[in-house]
Amino acid sequence: MEYFYNNLREIEGKLANDPQRNTKTTTNTRCILVSGPVIVGAGPSGLAVAACLKEKGVPSMILERSNCIASLWQLKTYDRLRLHLPKKFCELPLMPFPQDFPMYPTKRQFIEYLEDYARKFDIKPLFNQTVEKAEFDQTLGFWRVRTSTTCSTSGRGTNEKGSIGGEEEVVFTTEYVCRWLVVATGENAEVVMPELEGLKEFGKQVVHTSSYKSGETFRGKRVLVVGSGNSGMEVCLDLCHHNAMPSIVVRDTEREMFSEQDGLPRRPFPNGWKGESGLYAVGFTKRGLLGASMDAKKIAADIGQFWNSESRHLTTFDRSH
Ligand SMILES: Cc1cc2nc3c(=O)[nH]c(=O)nc-3n(C[C@H](O)[C@H](O)[C@H](O)COP(=O)(O)OP(=O)(O)OC[C@H]3O[C@@H](n4cnc5c(N)ncnc54)[C@H](O)[C@@H]3O)c2cc1C
Repeated sequence: MEYFYNNLREIEGKLANDPQRNTKTTTNTRCILVSGPVIVGAGPSGLAVAACLKEKGVPSMILERSNCIASLWQLKTYDRLRLHLPKKFCELPLMPFPQDFPMYPTKRQFIEYLEDYARKFDIKPLFNQTVEKAEFDQTLGFWRVRTSTTCSTSGRGTNEKGSIGGEEEVVFTTEYVCRWLVVATGENAEVVMPELEGLKEFGKQVVHTSSYKSGETFRGKRVLVVGSGNSGMEVCLDLCHHNAMPSIVVRDTEREMFSEQDGLPRRPFPNGWKGESGLYAVGFTKRGLLGASMDAKKIAADIGQFWNSESRHLTTFDRSH
């Protein structure tokens, strides 16, 4: 154990002198040892893994870059959204939807369900924690997960991107050291805007579905919807309901939600959930919440087996400079 703590001190030293660290007024560097897994992302997948781990007696820590759970659903979805699949295919492990919910719950109902889920399993993510880097330290045999948080010097709060209008910023860097890392950052968490020829000259409004709220602002206008996945189709319908005149372009006959993209686990479903050196991925199966729930149970079983076979666990500690 002494060897471990010596290495941890070395990490702290390296962190303090890392030239790549934000050069702004960094005043706080912390190193936190987490006894259980670190989960990146507090969307449905991250919550599901945390709950399944808890059921097996394994504590975990969720790091979330936004300031709420299910940020995709709360901040980046259109008003008319309902679950696209019947609720029985969308519930998370260990807690069914309330019986009085309709077959296709509304966005508000789904968020309520997730909030109740987090309450039931006492899941308290650390918000405003953007994971910038995660690497496996071969010497230590542990993952080193680095986050940064930005605060205003006047103490008027933080935000995800770290820009606080006109105020001086202070960047806090934290390195979480853990044995297991679960990546639950979502298939749709990043906006993907394809480069389209002539877009710059187009000169009219171009909106990604993550910023689209309702067709109200498009009333009477001609709108081209690019992509015919669930969102494209539903946005098209919403535009019709608001008396806009949408057209939709479809790249090929394959449904978008099933096409291959870079950045997803290499191994196809159902084997993409487990990597090397205690690394896991949840929610990248292209099978929605059902796939996330299946991943979550497997990950918790895998970590839980190891956890419960160990009699001594590391104690979490927190040191600030
Ligand atoms: C409009 C829409 C409708 C959908 N409807 C359905 C449906 O009806 N049924 C279904 O089964 N599936 C549906 N899906 C697909 C999928 O189930 C959802 O996208 C679901 O939210 C995925 O959950 P997740 O936790 O894997 O990812 P997300 O919900 O995207 O959560 C990922 C979280 O990770 C955080 N994060 C990302 N990067 C970092 C970082 N570097 N550091 C810290 N935090 C980070 C994000 O802020 C986010 O909160 C839908 C998707 C969309 C976009």
